[in-house]
Amino acid sequence: MKDHYDAIIAGVGGMGSSALFHFARVGLKVCGLEQFQPGHNRGSTHGDSRIVRKAYFLDPSYVPLMHRSYELMAELEARRKQRLFHRVGLISAGVIDSPFHRGMERCFATHPLPHERWNVDEARRRYPHMLLPEDSVVYFDPTGGYGNPEAFVQAHVASALEEGATLLTGERMLSWRADAAGVEVTTDARTLRADRLVLTTGAWIIPELVKLGVKMTLKRKVQVWYEVTDIRPFRPEVCPVFILKNRGGDFYGFPTLDGRTVKTAETSGGTELASADEQHGRLLESDHANLTRFMRNTFGGLAGRPVAHQECLQTFTENQNFIIDVHPAHPRVVLCSPCSGHGFKFTPVMGELLRQLATGITPALDISLFRLNRFLPTAS
Ligand SMILES: Cc1cc2nc3c(=O)[nH]c(=O)nc-3n(C[C@H](O)[C@H](O)[C@H](O)COP(=O)(O)OP(=O)(O)OC[C@H]3O[C@@H](n4cnc5c(N)ncnc54)[C@H](O)[C@@H]3O)c2cc1C
Repeated sequence: MKDHYDAIIAGVGGMGSSALFHFARVGLKVCGLEQFQPGHNRGSTHGDSRIVRKAYFLDPSYVPLMHRSYELMAELEARRKQRLFHRVGLISAGVIDSPFHRGMERCFATHPLPHERWNVDEARRRYPHMLLPEDSVVYFDPTGGYGNPEAFVQAHVASALEEGATLLTGERMLSWRADAAGVEVTTDARTLRADRLVLTTGAWIIPELVKLGVKMTLKRKVQVWYEVTDIRPFRPEVCPVFILKNRGGDFYGFPTLDGRTVKTAETSGGTELASADEQHGRLLESDHANLTRFMRNTFGGLAGRPVAHQECLQTFTENQNFIIDVHPAHPRVVLCSPCSGHGFKFTPVMGELLRQLATGITPALDISLFRLNRFLPTAS
């Protein structure tokens, strides 16, 4: 049938663009549906830079997925003849004996990942412009770095279109229904039919998951670009990505990408929102007070004032793990919420996993941590 697809991907952001590509590359007839334009700045996948790393303090079972993500990132770069991942290295520092420290040690005990462990004196010797608290433990990950989120979305979309995918933009899914025969998606312009539906609607997936009994929180986060008095220590040739967790909060930042400013943000904090359509665009004093304090405490006289910002939506599960599973009532529908502020680095592998789940292939990678029943009240 002309207008019948093997799969519809609802939401073509970070995860949906990857899914669109991975469905199309194996010859499936796939249609992506996006309410805005790919690479837009109203969801979760924008702001010039995202941390990419393999060592995971949250749970070591994320590491095999990252190995596959790195492979797929390299394939995508080769295909597009474009550098998407910038391996500038990553330092992460936290308080000794904190959940971060214990999680990192557990990760390195489980997976042989390249890393160096430094005390504060060693970290200061390497990066004298960063003032770390005395009781920090510092890890250097030479395989870490950053990716440009908008570029990843565009690269996946362009590759998917080359492979024959259909993409409908500026068109919103209003509702869907599924039965034994297939799925039907109603948009503000038409009705689409397919064998399968993948919901990669980012922060807009929350009502769907809440209906199933999952507790989710939505937060408005702000990424802030700071002026610095001397840009030289922040050049990518000498400055790694940094994740710094201390008693004042959890922060991270990137080397300068424009030769003028440094982007940092707070992992902790954020303002709770009732709906994904609630962002307002302004930078409030309360958005950056803690971050500005962190900049001064960490970079001393180098830290200047905030000169630009972007809002971003972050969805959180209670334990910060992703949700990726087949819908419990509709086997033709796959739910995907790789959220809690750390999903971007998995976008390359996520498309492949979603294709496998949707087409009944048991993924070779272990994703049991992300099964829906882990988030339901009856879960043991
Ligand atoms: C400030 C911030 C910093 C982060 N830092 C990192 C980091 O350093 N490293 C990392 O790995 N991760 C990070 N993350 C997390 C990561 O960015 C997200 O996990 C990831 O981008 C989520 O992608 P997504 O595809 O689920 O959502 P999105 O990219 O938002 O995609 C969802 C898409 O669905 C579309 N959509 C929704 N509803 C509909 C509908 N009804 N019809 C049609 N289209 C619809 C939306 O318009 C959107 O394009 C960060 C997130 C934020 C917000």
